[in-house]
Amino acid sequence: MQKSVLLRVLQQEIRRHDFNYFVDQPPSIAQGGKGVVVPGCPACQKRINTMSKFLDHLAEDAMPTLIEKLSRRENRMSSSLHEKRE
Ligand SMILES: [Zn+2]
Repeated sequence: MQKSVLLRVLQQEIRRHDFNYFVDQPPSIAQGGKGVVVPGCPACQKRINTMSKFLDHLAEDAMPTLIEKLSRRENRMSSSLHEKRE
């Protein structure tokens, strides 16, 4: 994978996550439900209380998952190239 492509993929993944608020188990109380608004990453519905924990979330949840996904995709591509050559 080209470095420029990898960089773009990493940037997109980082931007997908956000240290914000989301409704845990919607609907929220405002909508008549039992869900509570909690701080965390809305994209992952993960509760996070501090900015340093949010950075941990990026480093320890988001990045490994992304790398795993990319390496699976690379494997698939190289194995399909392999099949064509055979
Ligand atoms: Zn997240």
